[in-house]
Amino acid sequence: MTTDRTHHRPSHVLILGAGPAGLGAAYELSRHDVPCTVVDKNDIPGGLSRTLTYQGFRFDVGPHRFYTKNETVNRFWHEVLGPDFIRVPRLTRIYYRDRFFHYPLKPLNALAGLGVGRSAAAFASYLHARLFQRRLEAKSYEEWITIHFGRRLYEAFFKTYTEKVWGIPCSQIGAEWAAQRIRGLNLWQAVKDALFGNSGRIRTLTNHFHYPRHGAGMLYEKLTDSIRKAGNEVHFNTRVEAITREGNVVTGVRCSGGRNFAVGPAAHVLSSIPLTEFVADLTPPPPAGILDAAGRMRYRDHITVNLLYHGENPFPDNWIYVHSPDVRMARLTNYANFSPGMAPSPEDHGLGVEYFCFREDAIWQMNNDDLIRLAVEELSRMRLIKPKNVRGGFVIRENDSYPVYYTGFRPCYDTLKQYAQSLANVQMIGRGGMFKYNNQDHATLSGILAARNLLGESHDPWEINAEDEYLEEHRGDSSPTK
Ligand SMILES: Cc1cc2nc3c(=O)[nH]c(=O)nc-3n(C[C@H](O)[C@H](O)[C@H](O)COP(=O)(O)OP(=O)(O)OC[C@H]3O[C@@H](n4cnc5c(N)ncnc54)[C@H](O)[C@@H]3O)c2cc1C
Repeated sequence: MTTDRTHHRPSHVLILGAGPAGLGAAYELSRHDVPCTVVDKNDIPGGLSRTLTYQGFRFDVGPHRFYTKNETVNRFWHEVLGPDFIRVPRLTRIYYRDRFFHYPLKPLNALAGLGVGRSAAAFASYLHARLFQRRLEAKSYEEWITIHFGRRLYEAFFKTYTEKVWGIPCSQIGAEWAAQRIRGLNLWQAVKDALFGNSGRIRTLTNHFHYPRHGAGMLYEKLTDSIRKAGNEVHFNTRVEAITREGNVVTGVRCSGGRNFAVGPAAHVLSSIPLTEFVADLTPPPPAGILDAAGRMRYRDHITVNLLYHGENPFPDNWIYVHSPDVRMARLTNYANFSPGMAPSPEDHGLGVEYFCFREDAIWQMNNDDLIRLAVEELSRMRLIKPKNVRGGFVIRENDSYPVYYTGFRPCYDTLKQYAQSLANVQMIGRGGMFKYNNQDHATLSGILAARNLLGESHDPWEINAEDEYLEEHRGDSSPTK
């Protein structure tokens, strides 16, 4: 990081999106008395990390644990949440062929679940991969996993879940994604840990995580309050519809509800809305090659069916990865196991059932009652709930949740990134904004660092997460997908 002492602060910063990235940026600017305005199409803050309240229950958009290796973000979370940032014991398992496997994988448990024959076959295929394939260069996710873990483990623990999440065969998912998410997963270490134990520090990290007492969105509600208290504005129900530019300078943003924002010569824009959408909203449009590249990038969409469950706690996990191919759901969350503040009483449990899809898929078109019926039927078939205990439910459909790193996406990504960087008074931030598979910590950090750039420091938010590894990944604890 360098500091430019001759730097002029912007007169005003317009921030598109009130998720972790946008609010992280606005909070940082507010702390330094830089005037800013945040606009968001939703009616509450937090973006993908928001928390919805329904009949006294609270639900995130899929499970959101807080974990970071980055000290700036860690301090930021603790500073904003104080005692409301609680420490939660972690239990997460994989459900596969009517059995539960601990995740992160515990070799003895996996052995018991797979049975001796399958375990021996898995171990043999792992050895084969390590002896004969380790020098091969993986082009796809399938090749990456097979080379690192062997074909059998790939089929048991990676293939079905990953294909449910991404909706394309693992052979068409770029190896970049595996390398980013599960780079340090070390099977030998996992075996050693299972047999001989692990150092206390690592155990603490992997067996607990932090979480705001009233859901992930609590952090973003508090940030919104602070930003407003500092005299800055956060507008909800305000969708960006057009972004005017003169050459490579953005001059204004037109939003729904007749809200228009001029971007003066000394002002700046930070954008966390999906990069493809930002490009498509530009007026006049960018060159055809840019629009073409944007048209080739895809985000995966996501449905959560949220159920109000009354009775005995149906399962002890925070969430369960559902690998079984005979049900359509991919993940299941029990928010009561995150914080007692997520349900109206100890007998109530908010369950979130996740379906990943593209918006053209039949499941996206299903009506809400049918989706709720599907979730209850699947949970009952998995023998996890008593259907009569489900007291109601609601459905959330979320567009553009996951940037899809399909094989061959890289040239389009590079084209868009280069174009975005050529805009003189704009910085892209966040997960959708930079088309990066960022979690909350990296999304927030990108906002904070972009804000600091406007205060005279020099950072490259695009580089966040590129080199950064999660400590826990060295211990075989990379989440298959968050
Ligand atoms: C199912 C799921 C589970 C996850 N689990 C975890 C987890 O356990 N831990 C973790 O750290 N992270 C997790 N994440 C990732 C986390 O949600 C994101 O990293 C984070 O929310 C990204 O923040 P952001 O600000 O970049 O983007 P977003 O949260 O997407 O915010 C972008 C904002 O822009 C707004 N917007 C978009 N288009 C427009 C428009 N045209 N006009 C105005 N506003 C617009 C949106 O409404 C949104 O509020 C998970 C994500 C998902 C989907």
